[in-house]
Amino acid sequence: MKNAETFKKSVSKINFRLLPLYIIFAAAMIVFLIKLVNIQITGADYYRSASSVTHTRRIVTEPVRGEIFDRNGVPLVTNEYSQALMLDYDALPSRPSEKNAAIAKLSRILQKNGCDINTVMPALGTYPHVAYDDEAMKDPYVRNRFTRFLKRYGLDTEITCIELYETLFGRLDLLDDGGEHIYDSNTEDMIIRVLYTLDVYDFAPDNPFVLVSEADLKLITEILEANCRGAYVKKLFKRVYHYPEAASNIIGRVGKIPSEKMDLYLAKGYSYDATVGLDGVEAAFEDILRGEEGVTVITEDEYGNITDSRTEKEAVPGKNVYLTIDIELQQTALASLEAQIKRIVDEAVRSGEPDSGEKADSGALSVVSLKGEVLALATYPTYDITRLGENYAEYAADPRKPLFDRSLFGNYQPGSTFKIATSVAGIESGTITPDTVIDDKGKYTFYEDYQPSCWYVRGHGKLNLEEAIGKSCNYYFFEVGRLTGIDTMNRYCSALGLGRHTGIELPETEGVLAGPEYAATVGDVWVPGDTLQAAIGQSKNAFSPLQLSCCVSTVLNGGSRYKATILYKTCNYSGSDEQKNNPVIIDGIDISEQTVAAVKRGMKNSKEWTSDTKNYKFDVGTKTGTAQTTKTNNNAVLVAFAPYDNPEYTIACVIENGAKGGNAARPVFDVISHIYGLDADGRPNK
Ligand SMILES: [Zn+2]
Repeated sequence: MKNAETFKKSVSKINFRLLPLYIIFAAAMIVFLIKLVNIQITGADYYRSASSVTHTRRIVTEPVRGEIFDRNGVPLVTNEYSQALMLDYDALPSRPSEKNAAIAKLSRILQKNGCDINTVMPALGTYPHVAYDDEAMKDPYVRNRFTRFLKRYGLDTEITCIELYETLFGRLDLLDDGGEHIYDSNTEDMIIRVLYTLDVYDFAPDNPFVLVSEADLKLITEILEANCRGAYVKKLFKRVYHYPEAASNIIGRVGKIPSEKMDLYLAKGYSYDATVGLDGVEAAFEDILRGEEGVTVITEDEYGNITDSRTEKEAVPGKNVYLTIDIELQQTALASLEAQIKRIVDEAVRSGEPDSGEKADSGALSVVSLKGEVLALATYPTYDITRLGENYAEYAADPRKPLFDRSLFGNYQPGSTFKIATSVAGIESGTITPDTVIDDKGKYTFYEDYQPSCWYVRGHGKLNLEEAIGKSCNYYFFEVGRLTGIDTMNRYCSALGLGRHTGIELPETEGVLAGPEYAATVGDVWVPGDTLQAAIGQSKNAFSPLQLSCCVSTVLNGGSRYKATILYKTCNYSGSDEQKNNPVIIDGIDISEQTVAAVKRGMKNSKEWTSDTKNYKFDVGTKTGTAQTTKTNNNAVLVAFAPYDNPEYTIACVIENGAKGGNAARPVFDVISHIYGLDADGRPNK
């Protein structure tokens, strides 16, 4: 018998986008079905005089699942089809001798076609030369299923393989009345293996068995023409991932309905063995991708001959989903994060300075349009979604946590990037104006018992708002925070989306907006000094890169907060009935043009701050943040928007243990260069 793997290589696979081929295939199938029904109806005539008892059963046909593309139509996840040969519980005779005959007939055709049935009995050889497969039995799952089988048959767990076979011959009706073998040893062996497999897989009316997962047309034709009772053909699809690493955190997987969600899906009309989205985009857009199941009603006479087959309901294919993601941009972001992390570590090691970034190991970057469209959600390190099953233990044990999506779930202290929000709250609440000058004396001495200093301990002297943002003066924002007050400040921060869901269709962190409200939930008491820390983005403030991008977008939009979205458009498989996903404003405050202009000027000045940023020639706004962590190295944070004059995109980047905000600049500029076709220094590509 040929190995199943070898067989699979010769199997024809039908790509849905090759629609003409698919139609030819479908037409061929219809011809065979008509032929089949004719054979069966003709055959049935013989019996009809004796009996008119009929039995109908419904076979559910899975709809074609929609495919997933990026915003430019680049395929991210597509389908690969195969025809599977299935065994239906209700259609298989229940009387043991008839059941054996049906399996024997099937297995002969399968053997003739050189393909294995997917059996799992842990035994090698054929009777009387049989032995347990010790290698397979090492797997506790195999061992447990085997033990359960023995218990069901009331057999001793110490039974030898030969004794087991000899017992089963009698128990499974494989001997005639005189005690002689009915079938040859090969057929008998196959019957035992199939019955064992059906038993351990809990073969039932709602749990059909996949005999051959990829069957070719010749095999299917033979099986159908031979009228093998119990066998039917089902179209199966397999997801093909075109960017298994770059988009692993976004795409998600499909699989059988998880038991805890079974009731929910059944109520929606799904069948027990339906394939559904388990996580990521596959789960988020399940209703769009799914389509509708079809139903075929099969009528059989009392001998199991098919006398009629009609389509009660055609399956409706699911719609294709186009994401707002630009997969090339996503790849650029990932590659740049990886390269920058290596650069930070190399530089830190070379300098020999402790806590200067030698522990940088991971990061995330998000790119969002001002209207909330998410163009990139990169998280590094990543993993290969197609190898998640086999490599899960390795991924889970990796201290860099590749399975953790930092772009959506990372709760990062924003550091000085938060000063953007403090500025908006200060001006819009009427506490300060963009021209308010505050004299930074280094140490902030308003409170007797708590006197923090500016990071520039000698003090920046007299500053207005844009200078304070540009120089990231802590003293200035201590004063703005205190004068505004935490409650007013947080009313604005919340309206900017900080500490709130962005509205993206994927699961994400809500973040933490530090304040009395949050303090109370964790049993802390809020003191005035906490307000000073919160105003410069410290305290308990923690947000995801996506939230930070969306916050900057809201400021630049003059206070209109757009729902973050990853859905660009949907359309059916032929490309018609296109439906764009329009931007939605979910919240809003008024931010005056002067406020926006002042913040923008501050962010322009901020660009001059580090060597990595100031040499970039393209006009952008940035704000760095260096976030204290409980670890030794600080996190590097940077938010940016581009272009400066007419902002289109906001970007946020975090590098864990990246030591200083400027270290997060390179990946941000790399994605801006990618979007606008610039070189690494922000000059137009020649
Ligand atoms: Zn200062």
